[in-house]
Amino acid sequence: MLPDVQNLIALQNADREILRLKDEIAALPRRVAAIEQKLAGTRKALEDAKNAIKTGDAARRKYETAIQDQQQKISKYRDQSLEVKTNEQYKALMHEIQFAEQDIRLNEDKILELMVNAESREKDVKAAEAELKAEMAEIEKEKAEARQRTAEDEEQLAQWNAKRDTARAGVNPDLLRQYDRVAKYRGTGISEARDQKCMACQVMLRPQTYNEVRAATQVVACDSCQRILYHDPSHDRPADPAIVNKRRRAHPKFESSQAWYYRPSHGDEGELFLVFINGKGESSRRIYECGAGRKLGDTLVREGEYRLAFPEDLSDAIRLNGHWEESEIEEWENELPTNTLDLLHRDLDLARAEAATPARTHAKSEAVPSEHTAAS
Ligand SMILES: [Zn+2]
Repeated sequence: MLPDVQNLIALQNADREILRLKDEIAALPRRVAAIEQKLAGTRKALEDAKNAIKTGDAARRKYETAIQDQQQKISKYRDQSLEVKTNEQYKALMHEIQFAEQDIRLNEDKILELMVNAESREKDVKAAEAELKAEMAEIEKEKAEARQRTAEDEEQLAQWNAKRDTARAGVNPDLLRQYDRVAKYRGTGISEARDQKCMACQVMLRPQTYNEVRAATQVVACDSCQRILYHDPSHDRPADPAIVNKRRRAHPKFESSQAWYYRPSHGDEGELFLVFINGKGESSRRIYECGAGRKLGDTLVREGEYRLAFPEDLSDAIRLNGHWEESEIEEWENELPTNTLDLLHRDLDLARAEAATPARTHAKSEAVPSEHTAAS
């Protein structure tokens, strides 16, 4: 990998970490403030509950005074009743007494009601006090944690800033400007190229661009998003030799009336699948697109067995497993069926993985080794 690109990857990591740490440092006081606000709410609720009790107590005293007043009145009326001269006067006093007693009962009812309310208010106060206590403990804990986390973050931030400076110093200034410009608008300035794609914008790269990125001899940017591209060979498919060892591939028979091949390129065309079929004194060739399975051109027939008839097609070809009746192939017409295409791709992956694994590629039990060895 180019040192410039390596430094840009380091720079992107540093930029991302710096952003995350700054966000976290900014978020901590906001969290504390949110708890403090909740705390203020609980304090207010406690205050309200206490005030409600005070108001209730005052009202109760007022009703009690009213009852005493009425009792005094009643006792005064009773004294007067002993001295009245007429029946009417007596009746009037009795009426006043009745009225006062009624008023006393009304006040007593109100006091009872206040007492019931007071009980639930006491509960409110107790609950609010407990809540306040818990919240105050929590906020102290949060504050301590926030202080500690902030200190740690600040320390990490200083380290990442130093890494960032080092990385920036290691990049060509023009390239750095391009990175900064793209990062400013897109958030990131460098992207991995994998499976022919730019992983940041997910757009397919032109084969030439992809090959240039893989070759890593010059800096290449994505045509679509302008991010600088890099390639990580460890992410290439097929990468896992364990899979190959588990699923050993059957090697295609050397002598066969039908032979399938893969070619990475063919003139102007891209990747291809080819099938050759030997007939009586002649052989045929059909070509299909590797991706979509579309048939390219007409079936070509030449004299002689295919290996002799189409030598130019076999130079950089990979022999694959696969055999279908010629009549069936004829019926496919202009497109490979999906399952056929899948089988060819799977065998191609296995063949490539096998080629990438140094041991066990050519097992001793193999009567005929691979096509390549045989042809060369
Ligand atoms: Zn892109």
